[in-house]
Amino acid sequence: MYEQEQLKALIETAVDGVLSISADGRVRLYNKASERMFGYPAEDVLGRDVAMLMPEMIAASHAQYINNYLDTGKQRIIGIGREVEGKRADGTIFPLHLSVGEFRDKGERFFVGIVRDLTREVETRQRNQAMAEQLDLIGRHSAVSEMGAALAHELNQPLTAIDLFLAAAEIQLEKDPEKARETFQRVRSEATRAGNIVRRIREMVERSDSDRCAFDVRDVINDAVQLCRMVERKDTVISVEPLSPASVFGEPTQIQMIIVNLVKNALDATDGQQERKVSVRMETSDQRVRICVLDNGPGVSDEFAEQLFEPFQSTKKKGLGIGLSICSTIAEGHEGKLSYLAPPHQVESLGGAAFLLDLPLYRDEIHD
Ligand code: ADP
Repeated sequence: MYEQEQLKALIETAVDGVLSISADGRVRLYNKASERMFGYPAEDVLGRDVAMLMPEMIAASHAQYINNYLDTGKQRIIGIGREVEGKRADGTIFPLHLSVGEFRDKGERFFVGIVRDLTREVETRQRNQAMAEQLDLIGRHSAVSEMGAALAHELNQPLTAIDLFLAAAEIQLEKDPEKARETFQRVRSEATRAGNIVRRIREMVERSDSDRCAFDVRDVINDAVQLCRMVERKDTVISVEPLSPASVFGEPTQIQMIIVNLVKNALDATDGQQERKVSVRMETSDQRVRICVLDNGPGVSDEFAEQLFEPFQSTKKKGLGIGLSICSTIAEGHEGKLSYLAPPHQVESLGGAAFLLDLPLYRDEIHD
């Protein structure tokens, strides 16, 4: 008797709805929480078909479902629990979590259900999802506009060169056709350069997992430096410390883009100096590879250092200030980090700025 009273009190004080039905679907137990949840008083529900608490679609198949279970013993919800919909007395449909158990009494089978109103949870989930979608959209928008700006910025140089070379060639054509031919050659290589820039940026935008692979970061550094040396066209000021093999997983063109950007920034920073020094170094340790780009330029002021990676922060006359912010995003996309090393730092300095690209080394078992 005591136990029965205790059970009754437990059921009545439970926060979750507790119901039981007989095999014919009639409600036998319906606690206070169920009254609050569904809006029906117990006397309106007890003895009636539980289908009244469900939306029509589910109600129609409920009896069939119970019969199926009784015939075949196949469980679709019993012992598992799932998210379903309920219908309140006022007709509103709401999400609920339902867990179902089964018991027998004097040979008769009963089902007991515990129901929890999920309205709030579902609302929060939907709101979070809408927010995530919004953020994703904003992110993509700004990425697209950053790309557009980057494209304009990068293309400007070869296009200006093409314009100047063509003007020169026009004059040379009459006086010195041989020289004009050489100039046309230069126009051509500028056009190729412009094409490469477009391709590089497109590869960055169209990034997909299929472009990801394991690659030796050494090759990427060498290619990047070579590219910068071509652009520089002066005596080389870029030195590369002996590189050791280091396998990284990701998109090689993107990592190359970071190094090109860092080296180009270093070249910009040392432009006009008597002795220019730009150095690319690499070391591997603790499952990481660290690539450092240093120069002997004026360095970065403490105040500006804080804004370095924010988009559109530039101290250059024609700079857009988006290179470092894009590069930092790429590094993060590779589970890495791009940082500026404020002095004093552990790397042997050349007297100017030092940037560090830190990437995880590739281990086969992770990506197989
Ligand atoms: P941009 O080159 O178009 O200005 P970045 O994002 O690549 O854009 O660089 C932002 C700013 O960071 C530069 O304008 C410059 O002031 C500073 N900076 C970047 N690299 C160096 C460097 N090696 N030495 C000094 N300043 C640097």
